[in-house]
Amino acid sequence: MIYLKCSKVIDRISDIIDGQASLFVRMRFYGHLMICKNCRRYFNQFKTVHELAGKVSSDDLPPDFDHVMAFVMDEIEKQDEKKDV
Ligand SMILES: [Zn+2]
Repeated sequence: MIYLKCSKVIDRISDIIDGQASLFVRMRFYGHLMICKNCRRYFNQFKTVHELAGKVSSDDLPPDFDHVMAFVMDEIEKQDEKKDV
């Protein structure tokens, strides 16, 4: 299950950026980003600020990134199925 509320996502952004969030939290977080344009934009801005501050490097994907994306794609397919009903 991905985060449904934008406020939950906003709460987690600094944990995600800092690499403090668990795999489970990251899955829920990125799942929301895939379906929510507003949070995606907010997250990108937040990330850019941190990159400029030298805290993260943009090409440094987490080792479990593939797992997270697979989970996210599953969740999106489920959402699409629900829409069809
Ligand atoms: Zn959102």
